[in-house]
Amino acid sequence: MYRTHTCGHLRITDVNRIVTLSGWVQTIRKFGAISFVDLRDRYGITQLLFGEELQPLLDVHPLGREFVIQVKGFVQERENKNAHLATGDIEVLVSEFDILNTALVPPFTIQDDTDGGDDLRMKYRYLDLRRNVVKKNLELRYAITRSVRNYLHEQSFIEVETPFLIKSTPEGARDFIVPSRMNEGQFYALPQSPQTFKQLLMVSGYDRYFQIVKCFRDEDLRADRQPEFTQIDCEMSFVEQEDILNTFENMIKRIFKDVKNLDYEEPIERMSWEDAMWRFGIDKPDTRFDMELTNIKTLFQNSKSKSYPELIAGTDFPVFNQAETVIALVAPECGFYTRKQTDELTEWVKRPQIGMQGLVYIKCNADGSYKSSVDKYFDEEKLQAIAETCGARAGDLILLLAGKEEKTRKAAGELRLEMARRLNFRNTETFKLLWIIDFPLFEYDDSSNRWVARHHPFTAPKKEQIAVMLNNDPSIKNAENYLAHPFAEIKANAYDLVLNGNEVGGGSIRIFQKDLQEKMFTALGMSKEDAMQKFGFLMNAFEYGAPPHGGIAFGLDRLCSIIGGSESIRDFIAFPKNNSGRDVMLDAPSTIEDEQLKELNLQWRGK
Ligand code: ASP
Repeated sequence: MYRTHTCGHLRITDVNRIVTLSGWVQTIRKFGAISFVDLRDRYGITQLLFGEELQPLLDVHPLGREFVIQVKGFVQERENKNAHLATGDIEVLVSEFDILNTALVPPFTIQDDTDGGDDLRMKYRYLDLRRNVVKKNLELRYAITRSVRNYLHEQSFIEVETPFLIKSTPEGARDFIVPSRMNEGQFYALPQSPQTFKQLLMVSGYDRYFQIVKCFRDEDLRADRQPEFTQIDCEMSFVEQEDILNTFENMIKRIFKDVKNLDYEEPIERMSWEDAMWRFGIDKPDTRFDMELTNIKTLFQNSKSKSYPELIAGTDFPVFNQAETVIALVAPECGFYTRKQTDELTEWVKRPQIGMQGLVYIKCNADGSYKSSVDKYFDEEKLQAIAETCGARAGDLILLLAGKEEKTRKAAGELRLEMARRLNFRNTETFKLLWIIDFPLFEYDDSSNRWVARHHPFTAPKKEQIAVMLNNDPSIKNAENYLAHPFAEIKANAYDLVLNGNEVGGGSIRIFQKDLQEKMFTALGMSKEDAMQKFGFLMNAFEYGAPPHGGIAFGLDRLCSIIGGSESIRDFIAFPKNNSGRDVMLDAPSTIEDEQLKELNLQWRGK
């Protein structure tokens, strides 16, 4: 028997027991003729004491870090107890030991605070996984998936596996392609999600499906994306949006309860996409803090209470006069910002990722006076009017951005997050959930002058807008004025779940009628033949009694990282890829043998 107990098991009540332990040597400390060894396994660390009589043997068979050993011994109370260790009251006085395997000196220390950099740890991920912090992350992930499975099982969901080798379809991200040896010249694709399969399962009558499943997207990796990632993928029949929101609101609350012992009691707030964009400049707002945006241009134009319209119109500040929109953000208690700090913020908004021309600031001084970067154009009264309009108080700093509506809104949203970071509003241990609903069904793509599906092509429009979709020609005659097209107004029956400013889930009520699905493909610029060739299986299925259905998918990796309080999803994946999509441990992707290429009748053309 290799062990009677694990290294995390023994307590003061076990004193005098004879035990056998097996594990890895974490540290060796020699004091004269005796040595202390910390023995580690998945469950913890136990201190071993090698007495004088074992020294000759240890001299012949010295232990090293990460050696795998087995010891037999006697549990005794420790003289110097370690309150930080669960087993810290006892130690094992070793009578026999056996080296089960030796180990090379690990390239980094196997400790919470390791000296190993990212690349090194990824290359030796199996050693990194021995570290307590990484192990805790995988345990959290398991706790979350267990909670999900328990909850969905109780709700009569059935987990069904769907294939990984499927057909390449054009929508969304780029597919990973797998050549077929048996079908020369033909290729499979790896699924970007099991979307069409879960819909087919609804047609088959499995009215509550889920799957914790890998998805594959060959995208240029933005920070913290993985080419393969895991979704909690779900679908239900005979449901409306309300049913889905309720079912999965309870699921996420159950996760918090099971994993964090946290009672998330209040109902999850729901916000329309339109509201989110105007109030926060982003479709996944972090609502743990306020700092809402104010569109002062329209406010000024609409305000009846004061003669605000003249305030902006009456100044000669061309930047505001000519801008489609002017958005204000109030940074609380930042009125003390120095010139250097405001200059730095100006540079920040001018970065290419943000792309604004500049930034106007108004400092609301403690004495009620104002100081701004546009004092030349705005007198005290006007500055005060702006401050009142956006709810700024003495001591606050108002930041103003002006320009095209969409771009300015987005930039203001980014600036809001940046200020929140600087003000430490985002580093809290709190969790804030939010549903975003009423997304536009279509988005305009100016590179191809056509509509693209904002969510995916299977998402249904709001019931009352189905006619708008069926009865209008999707083509866009006037690209400049695409917002005037009836399609721009159509709202989707889609929803996202946002946690602390991150999209953790998204889904929709689906189209389940063949004619509407056909119209959708046409609207997205697909010919009838093309649509049939790519999605014929789904449209045919819709002719054999498809029930109304809808679903949602959650990004498991991201959910774990937020609940685990980390920025990086990689910390929660056992064997992740790096930012270039490489597995540095396997050294993949890699070239393949000529023989393999020949079998597939493929040839690498070189660059
Ligand atoms: N399949 C969708 C996605 O991966 C989620 C859904 O609509 O259920 O984004």
